[in-house]
Amino acid sequence: MLRSAQDNIKNISKKLGIDTDTTNKILEPESVHEAEISLSTGKSYKAFRVQHSSVLGPYKGGIRFHPDVDTDEVKALAILMSFKTAAVGLPLGGGKGGIRVDPKSLSEEELEELSREYVKKLYKKIGPHKDIPAPDVNTNSKIIDWMVDEYSKLTGDTTKASFTGKSLKNGGSEGRNEATGKGGVIVLKTIKELEHNSKEKLTFAVQGFGNVGALFSEIAQKECPNWNLVAATDSSGGVFDVHELSARELSQWKKNGNRLADFNIGESITNDELLGQDIDVLVLAALGSVVTVDNYSKIRAKYILELSNGPVDSDVEQLLSKNGVTVIPDILANSGGVIVSYLEWLQNINSEHWSLEEVNRKLKNYLVPATKNVYKYSTEKALSLRESALAIALEKLI
Ligand code: NAD
Repeated sequence: MLRSAQDNIKNISKKLGIDTDTTNKILEPESVHEAEISLSTGKSYKAFRVQHSSVLGPYKGGIRFHPDVDTDEVKALAILMSFKTAAVGLPLGGGKGGIRVDPKSLSEEELEELSREYVKKLYKKIGPHKDIPAPDVNTNSKIIDWMVDEYSKLTGDTTKASFTGKSLKNGGSEGRNEATGKGGVIVLKTIKELEHNSKEKLTFAVQGFGNVGALFSEIAQKECPNWNLVAATDSSGGVFDVHELSARELSQWKKNGNRLADFNIGESITNDELLGQDIDVLVLAALGSVVTVDNYSKIRAKYILELSNGPVDSDVEQLLSKNGVTVIPDILANSGGVIVSYLEWLQNINSEHWSLEEVNRKLKNYLVPATKNVYKYSTEKALSLRESALAIALEKLI
């Protein structure tokens, strides 16, 4: 994923005539922090925080708990954050953190200890005006609430602006949980409007029916009656139904503790089969490096909407384009999450709490112009949407 992120940026830099030294300087993180966390039960885990760029504001980016987390993955995700905040016009930089752990192997007490220990190792490096972490894969408002509490104990900070993605009762923002999915709907809808085909029927399939994928689907079905969800998978596999699946029913099914693959309507499909479905939009909402040289040719969708970070390898981007597939890049498509994180931070430092309507209005006010800007750049300069989003960000970072 790191190579892919770097290659994408180097390629657009070259097209813009930016010299190699400047590009390399921009790609290099400002700091990389690594620590070993030992729990009282004797288990120990590697922890990371990469602070990539503070040129436009404090570092901002999530903390991931996953067994595959390593320095390179966190670096890649931190670079993507700097380009994301820049592309959508936020006064923030980019960072990312993680712990190399399978959280399912921990008890609740161990999970809390691990979260608090992460803050103990890093609290001097983060803070409301330095670096503001948030949740990511396998982390949520409960974990963030423990982290904020630990940060307050260690520093005396009472603003709660040190982290975003908190629970509502602990200074979180209305609309944060669904912001990434909602943002994906806004971006896709805006692009369809710019292409003058927003009224046409559209079928979509979601790989990674987790927080982001499920909420994207529920909001899409509520707000866009002409969009049909025909397939969804998670790590267990999933289902396909040409007549439309109900996102709410699928979410409820999972909340009741069932496997998506066992859903009682439609045919069972594997993740591999989902990629090859004859649909309009393939929504990628699981992890990185999903579309590679080995499988890109089976994709028949007209659009890939990247709600996860880095799901399409840089080597296949042009090949997909030749096959008529338009990729709507992660730094635009999933930026709803960081936009509402920024709104949460603003509410915290000003001791305010805004209504859901206010938050959603502000989210739209960032995302619709940002999408139009990327689209316009792409048509005027004959560049892909990813190249355009990266170019807009790169020009700001330089
Ligand atoms: P999540 O853990 O809630 O959901 C991930 C889903 O992907 C789970 O349902 C899991 O079963 C599924 N999955 C894992 N491996 C899979 C595979 N091989 N095939 C199919 N499905 C698989 O995480 P999330 O918060 O929904 O985040 C999803 C992605 O979106 C991540 O890449 C994250 O970095 C990105 N993202 C999240 C946010 C946010 O606000 N949560 C913001 C921006 C980007």
